[in-house]
Order: sequence, then C-alpha cells, then structure tokens
Amino acid sequence: MSKETADASGPWDGLDELRVRLHEISRDRSAGAVEREAALGAVDTKRRLALALAAPDACTRCSRHDAKQPQGFEGGRCCSHPLGRLFTEDMLAMLATGGMGGEALQGPAHTGAGCAFRDRLGCTLQPAQRPNACAGYICQSLSEELQTKGAREGVATLCAELEDSERKFRSARTLRLAALEIEALLNRREG
Ligand code: SF4
Repeated sequence: MSKETADASGPWDGLDELRVRLHEISRDRSAGAVEREAALGAVDTKRRLALALAAPDACTRCSRHDAKQPQGFEGGRCCSHPLGRLFTEDMLAMLATGGMGGEALQGPAHTGAGCAFRDRLGCTLQPAQRPNACAGYICQSLSEELQTKGAREGVATLCAELEDSERKFRSARTLRLAALEIEALLNRREG
C-alpha cells in the first residue's frame, strides 16, 4: 500500500475539519455486518502489524539527514502527506466503524513537522488509529531492515490482510450507499 497512491483526497486539510467529519461519520450507525467485521479486523491487524514491525530503525532515522525535513523530529520522509490524502471518506468511515471517535484525532501543538500528527518522537496516533495507508506502508529501507531481521514475510502477510479488509469494507460500503441512494430516489418519485 502506498501513501502516494491513497485514493481520492477528502475535502479537508485541517485537523478541525477532519475531527468534525469523523464525528459526523461516526453518528451513522448503519454499517452492515461485512463492514463491521472488516473494520474490526483492520484494527486487530494494525495492532499485530505494529508488534511485528517493532519500532524499526528505518522509521526513526531516514529523515534525520534530509535538509528538506524538520530537524530533530523522528519519523520518516513518508510522514508528510496532506491529511485529505490519508484520511479519505472511506478510511474515516472504516476507522469510525472500528470504534474510533473524533477525540482520538488530537495532533501535537506545534506545526511544521510534515503531517499534523507527527511529533518529535514520531506519529502520535496509536497504531490502530492510523489510516491504512500509513499502517501498511513499507518503504525500501524498511523492507531491507525487515529482511535482515527475518520479519519481511510475516509483515507482508499482515499488509495483505489489511488491504483485504479495506477492499471488503469499501465494496460493502459502496454497495450499501448506492442501495440507499436508489431507495431515496424511488421514494422521491413515489412521493
Ligand atoms: S498519521 Fe502518523 S504515520 Fe501517518 S503520515 Fe501522519 S505522522 Fe505519519
């Protein structure tokens, strides 16, 4: 999964808008069984992924010597994408269905560290709260480090599991929303 290729951007770039949108989405309790199962499965997979990755060096060192990166901040060069590219509508719905509320989206007070959630010690979100594009992103340096540690295969399996959950969630949600739209259209015609 790639942060660069995360699907269409959401219409928000600021934390406040992001929190409000998550709050709105989390009030919708109509997610079906497949969506709930996929969202809860992703929460579990992201926790297991974080354990399997085990604070890799690649994620704390790679931006240290990059003049374009904020100095003194841990985290990789990859932590610099606009929020709307990571927290898409589908991703917010998946996080909300997995139990995450707007209060979880508290960014650190400072600015200028790339992503709004990045602090001096890296990402301030819990692994299960991160968008899938972050949780399952394995760059070349990280992949090499995992290979050295003998963990690459296990991590790849978990990344595939996460992608599978996301695919199932998105297709079930898309179908449900389309059915609701058709139902509303028919009701309007009859009314
Ligand atoms: S949410 Fe966390 S992991 Fe994702 S880009 Fe921001 S700081 Fe990095």
